[in-house]
Amino acid sequence: MRIIFIGPPGAGKGTQAEKIVSNYRLAHLSTGDMLRAAAAEKTEIGLLAEKYMLSGQFVPDDVIIGIISDRLNSLDCKTGFLLDGFPRTLPQATALDEMLQKNKTPLDVVLELKVPDQELYRRLAERGRADDKPEVIHNRLSVYTEQTAPLLQYYVKQLLLKTIDGQGSVDTIFERIKEVLDKSV
Ligand code: AMP
Repeated sequence: MRIIFIGPPGAGKGTQAEKIVSNYRLAHLSTGDMLRAAAAEKTEIGLLAEKYMLSGQFVPDDVIIGIISDRLNSLDCKTGFLLDGFPRTLPQATALDEMLQKNKTPLDVVLELKVPDQELYRRLAERGRADDKPEVIHNRLSVYTEQTAPLLQYYVKQLLLKTIDGQGSVDTIFERIKEVLDKSV
């Protein structure tokens, strides 16, 4: 199964992504995790990415697209993957489409995890990651609305988008996700 997981920061994507990849045995491709690991190792890409991440801005498309195209060609992705945090812009989405077409590996479904803004602010304030400071949170949510929300329409047109209500307990939300995924293959 090949899945894209989209949702604003604080929607609970990370928690649900872990459950999805373990239940369906998928490779977990989280660009946020990859960038944080690169930053911790102080690689060239990591140091560049860190500047953007700490201010709540997106890392440039060409950097992210390069990282993902390497990763998609690795062996563990052959049996399926969950893209978590990618694509986040239209150029990333079209670049991904090209990669998948070339590999003849179309997407099965795009999951959107939807949570009202008020609830997102509350959850992010509690989380306390380096990029969860109030002014950065505001930035990340507006970048999501401006740059990532338009992707939803892009995937509606491809008849791939399924929206999941992201409010409720972790288990309730996962049940909703499973219901959609079990129908998508
Ligand atoms: P996340 O853990 O998915 O919330 O990502 C944390 C940060 O990493 C984001 O706020 C961005 O600065 C950067 N990032 C992760 N994925 C992408 C992406 N697909 N495009 C641009 N920046 C990204």
